Amino acid sequence: MRFARRLTLVSVALAVAACSTPPRSVTPVVAGSVGAPTPDSLGALFLSRFATGSPAAFDSIDPDSLSRAVVHSAAQRKLTREARTMRVVRRDAQRAVLLLTGIVKAGNGGDETNLVRHFSGFYEAAMHQGSWRIVRQLPIDTLNYIHGQVLHVDLAPARDIHVEDTLSVIVGTEYGMAVRLNNDVRIARLRFDGDSVAWTLGGGVLWIAAPRRGHAQLALSYTLRDASGPSRAVAASSGDSLPAYGAFHNTDAWHPFFDYNSANDLGPATMTVHLPAEYYLTTTLPQRDTVIGGVRTVTGHSTYPTWLLSMIYDRDWRPVTSDVRGVTFETFTTPSFHFSHDSLARALRPIDSVLNARFGGPNPPYIAAVEDRAIGPRGFSVRMNEAVVSGSKAEQLVALGVRGPSFVFAHEVSHAWTMNATGPAANMLREGWATFAESVMLRAMYGDSVEREYWNRLRNGYMLGSEGRISILGSPDNGSVHYSKGAWIFHMFDELLGDSAYDRGIREYVQRQADGKTAGYRELIDAMSHAAKRDLTSFAMPWFSEKLVPDVRADVSGRRLILTQVQATPPFDLPLDVALTTASGTTVRRRVRLTKKADTVALAGVDSVVAVHVDPDHHLLLQRHWGQHVRLELPVAQAAGDTAVAIVGDFTLDSIPATREGDTWVVTIPLTTGRYVYAWQINGKPRSIIKGGNPGSDSDPATTGSIEVKPLEPLTDGLPKGGTFHQ
Ligand SMILES: [Zn+2]
Repeated sequence: MRFARRLTLVSVALAVAACSTPPRSVTPVVAGSVGAPTPDSLGALFLSRFATGSPAAFDSIDPDSLSRAVVHSAAQRKLTREARTMRVVRRDAQRAVLLLTGIVKAGNGGDETNLVRHFSGFYEAAMHQGSWRIVRQLPIDTLNYIHGQVLHVDLAPARDIHVEDTLSVIVGTEYGMAVRLNNDVRIARLRFDGDSVAWTLGGGVLWIAAPRRGHAQLALSYTLRDASGPSRAVAASSGDSLPAYGAFHNTDAWHPFFDYNSANDLGPATMTVHLPAEYYLTTTLPQRDTVIGGVRTVTGHSTYPTWLLSMIYDRDWRPVTSDVRGVTFETFTTPSFHFSHDSLARALRPIDSVLNARFGGPNPPYIAAVEDRAIGPRGFSVRMNEAVVSGSKAEQLVALGVRGPSFVFAHEVSHAWTMNATGPAANMLREGWATFAESVMLRAMYGDSVEREYWNRLRNGYMLGSEGRISILGSPDNGSVHYSKGAWIFHMFDELLGDSAYDRGIREYVQRQADGKTAGYRELIDAMSHAAKRDLTSFAMPWFSEKLVPDVRADVSGRRLILTQVQATPPFDLPLDVALTTASGTTVRRRVRLTKKADTVALAGVDSVVAVHVDPDHHLLLQRHWGQHVRLELPVAQAAGDTAVAIVGDFTLDSIPATREGDTWVVTIPLTTGRYVYAWQINGKPRSIIKGGNPGSDSDPATTGSIEVKPLEPLTDGLPKGGTFHQ
């Protein structure tokens, strides 16, 4: 099932910086209930509870829900926590700022740094009735900026990198500057505007005792071991002394940054890498490559504001460069990679053309397609700067039929438009956009019906995976809702505004990113409002903030239509199409703006309404109430002797048992309007979604199919339903 596929991509999707941080503007109203006599003793107590306390004991000292979640999740997974830095970096009589960091053990510095991203950092403490308490976590980028990086890297494959990084920074706080940096980094030298200053590195955070300064230079010299590539044992057994490939990904935190959603660390970057000439390397930026005396030198220059860089290297690549519609297209693939340079260039051409025609820039002068063997046997799944990245097993660029629809290659190419999204919905603004862009390409290349199937697929994934469980703003790290509901938000704007105004809005929003400005969900809504020439905040916000989608019931009472929003949220602002079917069989359409919980519409001139369809064309992501009881049959002869046949599909998390009627296994399911993929589960295969299965992809084609469900009857218990999946 598709959303499951997306879920598996989430860890890799991190590499496009798909992760993000909390809604930082929220100030908790309560401080921790446990305090200490001094800021120092409070910090020590905080870290000791982090390392060895129960989650409940930690919660009593920490009011921040996101750092609490780090402890809860580590405890649940039985991962070791260890205290690292404790430092009071600023204090007066009533307030203090503490630097508090720790690690959750994961075996390598990159993962460890990511695991404590919502924990390690600055905390504000306040004195109240003689006791110091933690009040809140302070965003790591508050008042501080990184405006550019110049990196020189010496890379010894399978051993380490030596990095000289010069950062242009602004320090606006009274308590120095902190950046996230890989736990395994060994710093040899650190200078702030040429001077040595105190610093400390631990828990994935480098803190520098930098004075406030408008424009300054931070120069770092450090090494980091190479934790990527195949293990030495594998390399040795194949008779090689060194592995053929490896990578330092943008999620490895191998150079300093604030966070995956910060607006304060965007800027130009230049990277010069030296490595043995037998290896090729991509900087994921437009680059030049020279070889002198056995050393390859690769220099990459950003053409678009960036904040995280990657280095991927491989001895077996055969790089090829060509011109695609004026863009330099370079492939870094091994001879065994499934797609040739020419086939990828052919695939890129229409994507570039369709997306550019509608949404304008980003117009990079350069695009790379990279086979990154360090991410394992998977297909195109990650975007890093100007590189579209695949694992070693790309089998398809687009999928139709029961395995689709999806267009992974278009998805990765389209990331260029919103890669620099910021703020608590940054993940949605990146992944929701790229998932939306797939629909644009599916429509352009395969027609409206495939596009419709695609939106159904995303709706099914959303209903099973996220409805009633998580909201976009409440769950910045949960990828699934960002892909499914996130794409629907872009789609709903498009449906509401029409392509012409919508495209204008997207161009305005994307331009902010090209300019390195804040580009969060509010800026997206503002851009859409400008394009629509009216404020769309009340329309858009509930889909970001609520865990539920609207559930609109329609009742006819005489000549009045009563529309009610019954979902357990404040009312949405809904521009609804309503189709009224009369006794004589005609259909009358009405446009109703439902802004309240319930509203009444006079049906003057419409006689004897027998059926009401709300949003019949599915412009909006709503609960659906019309559908069909679908009967599916499987001849017993095809059930391989199984006596407990069931059905799985993207309408149910668990399998649904079939009953035997003579020579046939039968299931009757109430399905709401849409399109579904199902597979017969015979002798336990394929597994249901809740058990990790993926109907359509991991099932036997002979017992797999899809169902088109029409709005033929009102349903009270139609599938798929949300709110039943508890992790
Ligand atoms: Zn993506």
